[in-house]
Amino acid sequence: MLKPAGIIFIAVFFLAGCATTPRRAPNEPLPSNWPATNEVQKVQKPPAWKPIPSVVKTNPPPVNAARPAPVFTWTPLNRWAAEHKIGAPHLLSDLPVATYAIGSANGVMVLEIDSREAVWNGIEINLGFEPQSIDNQIFLHELDLRRNLEPLLCDPPLTFGTNRVIVIDPGHGGSNTGTHSVLDGRFEKEFTLDWAKRLKPLLETNGWKVFLTRASDVYVPNSDRAAFAGAQQADLFISLHFNSAAPDQKQAGLETYCLTPTGMASTLIRGYTDFWSDNYSNNAFDAENLQLAVRLHAALLRTAGLEDRGVRRARFMGVLDGQHCPAVLIEAGYMSNPHEAKLIESPEFRQKLAEAIANALK
Ligand SMILES: [Zn+2]
Repeated sequence: MLKPAGIIFIAVFFLAGCATTPRRAPNEPLPSNWPATNEVQKVQKPPAWKPIPSVVKTNPPPVNAARPAPVFTWTPLNRWAAEHKIGAPHLLSDLPVATYAIGSANGVMVLEIDSREAVWNGIEINLGFEPQSIDNQIFLHELDLRRNLEPLLCDPPLTFGTNRVIVIDPGHGGSNTGTHSVLDGRFEKEFTLDWAKRLKPLLETNGWKVFLTRASDVYVPNSDRAAFAGAQQADLFISLHFNSAAPDQKQAGLETYCLTPTGMASTLIRGYTDFWSDNYSNNAFDAENLQLAVRLHAALLRTAGLEDRGVRRARFMGVLDGQHCPAVLIEAGYMSNPHEAKLIESPEFRQKLAEAIANALK
């Protein structure tokens, strides 16, 4: 696993700004074929999925009618950096595998050959494709350059206008209990609702108009949660959850999910078929989804002290794929882990989680 903690000092080497390229408009269709920079055309290896156990069940994603064949175009990172007017990637280490750093005024990304795990400003993010080494140069997939590197290294940070509306979604409710604490069996639905109720006034103090998808212990279908955010014309949507790896009691840490960009493999599939070519309404916000996820993930790591399990991609989460605004889902610790279950059951910890999100959206 890539663990270049403390690597941020490298930022001093990357003072150049990024050339801003136009972002795809929300209604513009995805190109049927990416521009062929074409240094190398490769047959794509199957993605290295690592199934992650969970007791949480959601509906499989709807299937799109048309599935264009995926296109695999690889570009040398050196060339991409020059085109975007940022410093060239630096080789950090050669052994056991080659690791590179590339930075801009926004921050530093560390990439490892043959690994989908990357590090952005000290937090773990997940690429769609493993970087390749060809003739001692690092090559990245075009989709990773457009959907992961460009939003973080080149795009301006996420900003929010006036009359800001946010929908907070306390996961589960009513007959849908979510997972339960390994300590005493208390349900996830109780703690997600409490977290949301702590978060609401903090966001309101900071000028947000806040709506909760549920304010009591009631069942709300995932599709209704997404439709509710649409009806409120939300600028942001954040779904709050806690995780489980039962019967494993060791797995621990924070995960933040956003929708997988069209054409990429997901980090988590939970047994559902992951159609790479499916295009959802929320894919119009791929850049903003990632920026939001990274911002919240970093704030939660700093405040709550959980282990970093990364910003991840998934398609099957019904509350994300029906959104018409940037949307993320947070899994703030494992209720199957005794230490984290104790934290999650503590009001002080849930207050910290609420404050982290509110501060990140100031
Ligand atoms: Zn949940």
